[in-house]
Amino acid sequence: MVNLAVDLSGKTALVTGAGSGIGYGVAQVLAQNGAAVILNDLSAGLAGAARSLNGEAWPGDITDPGVIEPVKDRKIDILVNNAGFQHIAPVEDFPPETFRRLLEVMLVAPFLLCRAVLPGMKERGFGRIINIASVHAKIASVFKAGYVSAKHGLLGLTRVVALEAAPHGVTVNAVCPGYVDTPLVRNQLAKLAVEHNLGPDEVLEQVILRPVPQKRLLTPEEVGYLTLFLCSEAAGSITAQGYTIDGGWSQV
Ligand code: NAD
Repeated sequence: MVNLAVDLSGKTALVTGAGSGIGYGVAQVLAQNGAAVILNDLSAGLAGAARSLNGEAWPGDITDPGVIEPVKDRKIDILVNNAGFQHIAPVEDFPPETFRRLLEVMLVAPFLLCRAVLPGMKERGFGRIINIASVHAKIASVFKAGYVSAKHGLLGLTRVVALEAAPHGVTVNAVCPGYVDTPLVRNQLAKLAVEHNLGPDEVLEQVILRPVPQKRLLTPEEVGYLTLFLCSEAAGSITAQGYTIDGGWSQV
């Protein structure tokens, strides 16, 4: 773990989808720098993840109004919209209900959470909203119609909320990672290995990392460090941006 020494003591951060992967990595980095962390997830691993960070578990599906509604009554200084999933299929075979679900989880829920936390942030004159988007908020790939649409939308949402919140000490940015070593990517690896008739290591090297100059997956903590900087006082003038972190892959 790198020590960037940002003091987040007294601040409370809500991170969605924090039971594993990037969300957990982000929550870990924020907690290590003094934030009280609230971890949301619908997975069984949530309680253990929250315990390991001395954090609070906020269980449930983030598209459920019953999970979002109580957020309005909490002092949230930092909101990290991270929960997400992937579905890969050609447009003609893409199940409409899965397309809608991708938008619900990765675009509508972040919108509703922004609505829930903004009044308190504005009143206190401080807030940080970080939307974990993707390189796929800026470029497209085949077979990812739902994911790419949701992430492009999330970057648009980031910019609108940033403009509205700007006079109130609240910054809103997106973090746009390339491939990060998480269960989401490991699942894609397993599927690609079958399709390409390769082993998981070969598919990583020959398919996923082929266009990545650094030839490695990012770590969830690396996404956490960028998020941490955007949460700092030092980043107070940075807003309405989408920061790519992808080992040189996309150059966007
Ligand atoms: P992951 O599968 O490891 O973690 C996602 C977490 O979100 C899971 O714990 C899951 O249970 C939770 N989740 C899913 N739907 C939810 C819901 N409706 N309510 C509450 N929790 C829910 O995946 P990850 O790779 O850590 O992805 C996290 C975010 O980062 C996603 O938004 C993803 O699109 C984005 N991202 C990932 C990569 C990557 O390469 N891994 C790259 C760019 C962006």
